[in-house]
Amino acid sequence: MRIRDILDRKQTFSVEIFPPKGEMSVESARSISEQMIAETHPDWISVTFSAGGSGNSGNTLAISAEIARTPAPTTSLAHLTCLGSSRADVDAYLDACTSAGIDNVLALRGDRTPGREAIDFEHASDLVSYIKARNPQICVGGACYPEGHVECASLDEDIENLKRKQDAGVDFLVTQLFFENEDFYRFRERLVRARIKVPVVVGIMPFTSTRQIQRMAFSCGASIPAKVVRRLVAAGDSEEDQRKAGVEYAVGQLEDLAANGVDGLHIYSMNKPAVARDTYEALRRCGYVRG
Ligand code: FAD
Repeated sequence: MRIRDILDRKQTFSVEIFPPKGEMSVESARSISEQMIAETHPDWISVTFSAGGSGNSGNTLAISAEIARTPAPTTSLAHLTCLGSSRADVDAYLDACTSAGIDNVLALRGDRTPGREAIDFEHASDLVSYIKARNPQICVGGACYPEGHVECASLDEDIENLKRKQDAGVDFLVTQLFFENEDFYRFRERLVRARIKVPVVVGIMPFTSTRQIQRMAFSCGASIPAKVVRRLVAAGDSEEDQRKAGVEYAVGQLEDLAANGVDGLHIYSMNKPAVARDTYEALRRCGYVRG
């Protein structure tokens, strides 16, 4: 099913997983997604993409196709980055999506890393236009950044570029993670002023350890507020206490977002079914999801 059609009907709950890498098998990624489907009934599952020769693009498709197929068919959103992907790679990816019943693609630029260069597409908006012209039936999502993208000189400039993404035909947006809801509410007002009207799904990452939050914040430029640091300090060295602190903080963010009306809530689950389950249960208790 096309995600935009779901968003036009209701507020959504969804989760992100990453495909197998390193020692993780395709089978274990499949069982993680099956467990999340059984426990949280997501409106869709998104599957990340890693270009640059790691072989994970094939796994993105394999896992997205599994989600779309069995055992309880669920909508999947296959990520695709244009850095490191040629036009021929994109064509093959889109054809594979169509054959596998994957109706949604998250069109991204990807991070600039050595060996991951622009080949045929410079910006995500170029990829959006290309997909829309070639496969108009595919529902195309894009990324957005409540605190501004790290490379951009200002949030205003970033929002101007986001407008290009909407003009290119993007059907919906998913936010980068953030830890301060006020940043999102201010961003949302700016989108209205910039006449960006497509639905915006809010992405939240329950952090699971001090190391992980530091790594994520550095790679995506999200600020870590003092209230988060205090919780981590209180959790001390215990990984279990750090995980609990992360889920509790995310639940607080999600409850506040649900109360303030959002188009959708998306959980960066880091492949941890317990994280997806705990956030889903909290959203069920506050009436955001039914089940
Ligand atoms: P763009 O929209 O192209 O923007 C990148 C930068 O270029 C911004 O600073 C923007 O302001 C600027 N820009 C855009 N258009 C123009 C223009 N026409 N002229 C000048 N400047 C312009 N990465 C992965 O590798 N795999 C994933 O699966 C993945 N999933 C993600 C999912 C979400 C929801 C998000 C938010 C990010 C994800 N990322 C992923 C990370 C993403 O690839 C990086 O944040 C990347 O640096 C930017 O991607 P983008 O699609 O936002 O790029």
